[in-house]
Amino acid sequence: MAANDTISIAVLPGDGIGPEVTAPALDVLHAVAGRHGFSVDAREHGAGAGHYRDHGSALPEETIRAVESADATLLAAMGLPDVRYADGTEIVPQIDLREIFGLYGGVRPIRAWLPEAVPLKDPRGADIDFVLVRESTEGLFVDRGKRNGDADHATDTMRVTRAVSEKLFHFSFQLARQRRSHLTLIDKANVLGSMAFFREVFDEVAAEYPDVTTSRLYVDAAAMLMVQRPWDFDVMVTENMFGDILSDLAAGLVGGLGLAPSGDIGDKVAIFQPSHGTAPDIMGKGIANPLATILSVSLMLDWLGRRRDDPRLLAGAADIEQAVRKALAAGDATTVDLGGKVRTADVAKAVIARLGNP
Ligand code: ATP
Repeated sequence: MAANDTISIAVLPGDGIGPEVTAPALDVLHAVAGRHGFSVDAREHGAGAGHYRDHGSALPEETIRAVESADATLLAAMGLPDVRYADGTEIVPQIDLREIFGLYGGVRPIRAWLPEAVPLKDPRGADIDFVLVRESTEGLFVDRGKRNGDADHATDTMRVTRAVSEKLFHFSFQLARQRRSHLTLIDKANVLGSMAFFREVFDEVAAEYPDVTTSRLYVDAAAMLMVQRPWDFDVMVTENMFGDILSDLAAGLVGGLGLAPSGDIGDKVAIFQPSHGTAPDIMGKGIANPLATILSVSLMLDWLGRRRDDPRLLAGAADIEQAVRKALAAGDATTVDLGGKVRTADVAKAVIARLGNP
């Protein structure tokens, strides 16, 4: 049991629908803390495109230090279509944070929260329930925002390092052990030298986990199999750009981005956020789906609970998941993106009402 009863959470609501989905997620966090006997010290910090426009900085030093010193960070969404840096590049402090803190483990759990929203059905009745781990600090994103080349060509670099790959694979094997003990590597080792190296490091690390079974798939085959039999996957691990693409495909398998939470995890710092962006088209209408953010809170409690070995946090994480499932099954959390009419604030009420009802 942790000596400390309080968890300190840095909260970065960001832009667009970010603040709209953060408020209900914090309501759920405070409610679950009350039920499970821990306290939450949640403090908001500025970052994002709006912060850049109003204060001249998209990611102030104070916010970076707050993320560093908090037990965990809850981030909603950042970026606005009409606000750019002076050189025209996009404002994405959420990606900067991954690089600043070395958050190599991009965890994207994909589950059939609302069976009616799942377009594919397993003839044997199995549910989709897998985790995609996306390396989030290097790979094909390493030249992000740069323009290398001249008038006749442009080049990007795929960088794969042993140090980050080893950490990523150890993290993924340990995650697989907490689940059904199967890990699938997704790469393009038949074409790219960087990916052949990625696979070599994977094979070396795999030798340390004889209890976890493994598969290796090329990314093109993986995309096909994720559509043909997504229920067969347990944990998958892949490079940054492949993971970027496959995680949207994966969210589409279970009803879209409104139900896709995520965690970006490093050795010391972890940031949890919905997989969706700032959705400027629906901003301010009160119809944004807050479930991806609420499920990110659950992921955060699970990560913190394991780290602190605190059963109260683990119970809180599980409580949120079952409350979300029940609220969805009852039709009380079916927002517009899921084909319903329930409004953002009412989703939080529906989830909170079902906490503690196993
Ligand atoms: P980014 O580049 O930041 O990922 P994007 O525009 O590609 O942004 P989103 O902001 O996630 O992607 O929006 C994609 C679509 O999904 C939009 O039509 C948006 O309204 C919808 N959407 C995203 N998140 C939600 C949500 N939480 N609730 C309802 N609709 C959402």
